[in-house]
Amino acid sequence: MSPHAAPAEAPAAPVFDIALQQVQLQGHTILHAIQTRLPRGGWTAIVGPNGAGKSTLLRALAGLLPVQGRIQLLGQDLRHWTPKARAQALAWLGQNEAGTDTLRAAEVVMLGRLPHQAWLAPPSPQDHEAVRQAMLDTQCWDWRERPLNQLSGGERQRVLLARALATRADVLLLDEPLAHLDPPHQLDWLQLVRGLAQRGCTVISVLHELNVALQADRLLVMRAGRVAHLGACDAPDTHQALQQAFEQRLHLASVQGQWLCLPFALDSLESKK
Ligand code: ADP
Ligand code: MG
Repeated sequence: MSPHAAPAEAPAAPVFDIALQQVQLQGHTILHAIQTRLPRGGWTAIVGPNGAGKSTLLRALAGLLPVQGRIQLLGQDLRHWTPKARAQALAWLGQNEAGTDTLRAAEVVMLGRLPHQAWLAPPSPQDHEAVRQAMLDTQCWDWRERPLNQLSGGERQRVLLARALATRADVLLLDEPLAHLDPPHQLDWLQLVRGLAQRGCTVISVLHELNVALQADRLLVMRAGRVAHLGACDAPDTHQALQQAFEQRLHLASVQGQWLCLPFALDSLESKK
């Protein structure tokens, strides 16, 4: 064994080490105490009912919110990272993003290269290549000249995903990246994320599509501003936490080695009583 190699049994350093006391927004406590470590590498899907605090947690991980407590990114408090170094390490895709509507798609994706560019410097050949590759990867290169506000919801979403990829960050934080994507493009997204994870990237995504989330490496289940569970997608205790978070209104089944979940209608629950 090389003197530099870590012992096989040593756990990998977490990408995020979270020790939050709380997160308040406009005087309301949105996240309560959260103590957890998210492993480096692989794909973690954050799931939970509406209003559980998923987006707030993701924004806190991105350093976009003031928090009480601390969040370490790769061993260093988020507050101690310079904005530029943090923007190179972390790529962000927010929920319902707006504000860049009149830019052409390629210009939007080029925004992902800002952390790599000197102030007011023109994009380098490497920047152009990163943009092209990211747009090819999310299949939006063909409409690179079109303004964002002339694209469909799903097309826009692929451009915004390309912007995150163009950053070439090792850690991607994606809030509902499948919003507006048709089923074939959801599958393409899944393959893209698996490829990123295989290359050593860490992908953390909030997902409402539970059947996609169940294909992640691990699920982080949120409920009422707390992390209810973090565990493997096929583990019975993860399924139990999922059921609790969704008030026992799911039917979980393994079909050809893949966990799937169907929601129950309330009246069918009543008839089971
Ligand atoms: P999720 O993404 O799980 O649906 P969010 O993290 O967006 O949930 O929101 C969690 C809770 O925090 C919700 O009740 C929401 O109304 C509230 N909330 C979100 N953002 C703000 C804000 N800026 N000010 C006050 N309350 C907020
Ligand atoms: Mg949300």
